[in-house]
Amino acid sequence: MSRAVVIGAGVGGLTAGLALQRRGWDVTILERAPKLEAVGAGLAVQPNALRVLDLLGVGARLRELAGLQGAAGIQRPDGGWISRTDADRATERFGEPVIVVHRATLVDTLAEGLAPGTLRLGLTASDVDPDGRVVTDGETLAADLVVAADGLHSTVRGKLFPDHPGPVYTGVTSWRIVVPHPGGTVMPTETWGSGKILGTAVLGDGRIYCYATAPAEAGGRADDEQAELLRLFGDWHEPIPTLIRAATSVTRTDIRCLDEPLPRFHEGRIALLGDAAHAMTPNLGQGACQAIEDAIVLAGCTDDLNRYSAERVPRTSEVARASRRVGRMAGLDHPVAEWLRNTGMRLVGKLGPDLVLRQMDPVLTWHPPT
Ligand SMILES: Cc1cc2nc3c(=O)[nH]c(=O)nc-3n(C[C@H](O)[C@H](O)[C@H](O)COP(=O)(O)OP(=O)(O)OC[C@H]3O[C@@H](n4cnc5c(N)ncnc54)[C@H](O)[C@@H]3O)c2cc1C
Repeated sequence: MSRAVVIGAGVGGLTAGLALQRRGWDVTILERAPKLEAVGAGLAVQPNALRVLDLLGVGARLRELAGLQGAAGIQRPDGGWISRTDADRATERFGEPVIVVHRATLVDTLAEGLAPGTLRLGLTASDVDPDGRVVTDGETLAADLVVAADGLHSTVRGKLFPDHPGPVYTGVTSWRIVVPHPGGTVMPTETWGSGKILGTAVLGDGRIYCYATAPAEAGGRADDEQAELLRLFGDWHEPIPTLIRAATSVTRTDIRCLDEPLPRFHEGRIALLGDAAHAMTPNLGQGACQAIEDAIVLAGCTDDLNRYSAERVPRTSEVARASRRVGRMAGLDHPVAEWLRNTGMRLVGKLGPDLVLRQMDPVLTWHPPT
């Protein structure tokens, strides 16, 4: 039986492990953390990724644990609508829903699908070579395939592509919170204003996931991040201030991405995947979804990693570019530019709500190879 060693048990590494096992590989996943920690809060799993998870046999379980979304859209800070849509309409168009789950729910669901003994926690891969050798805490593992799913600050990427500049700071930081449902209706919306964004979604257990972004100095930290959120968003429409006041913990993460795509995602027997290969901004909610796509494509290309790179480099580069475009548009911070953007989007919405959804076709209509 062929043997794969996966470095990193994030969404990308776990999905790759599952996809390879479904194809009969003997898989070991090394994770440096002592337990599976889901950093972050909620995560949108979109139709392109959901189709992969269905194929791997975990999609149905995830849907059971996800929140139903309903009416959705983009609002201004005063609560007025820039554009409106509906989750049912999106499901109709793409054949699958967009679901939002707690990150821990996705990680646990993927891990539960793995064969017993696959995960080895508390082990750091300290070196790899293209012949398939992985060194970890005094032990050397030999593999037919090494999957580097070691995230944004991937050391494997640094080793294989020493001249690549690596992740760059986008000038924008993010905050994430999960809070109890405040009652009434909370719609899955994004609110855009003065260079800032705040989004809400309902999780499967009824709690609300909120994410926010704003321009900030790299590495900046407030003494009290909740107070910082209230300073930035406290005068926006309800329920935003109420949700922020209910937060008991706030995760702050600077947004970094790979500005320059890698020339390929493989070297010898090593394949890079997920943020290690193509970290992107979160504006399209596609970083983890693309890692999930990578995993299923890789599992079908293990005999020829050139094919893996040839399929995945252009696809992920295009999604990353689109994500940055949306980020730039949502983050406009000039009254005239904002007015033009909002008016343009309202007009497009009036011409037909499906025009807004249609812009997502190239990303969301992707189907995994069967
Ligand atoms: C604010 C925000 C919101 C987002 N929202 C969404 C969303 O809604 N939908 C979406 O699809 N994406 C979203 N993303 C992007 C998504 O979080 C990432 O793209 C995704 O988590 C990347 O997964 P990964 O498995 O590649 O990397 P990671 O999740 O970073 O996992 C890497 C793992 O490797 C381990 N590791 C690293 N080095 C080693 C080593 N040497 N040895 C052993 N283990 C190692 C780490 O401990 C870690 O567990 C968002 C990102 C942000 C910042």
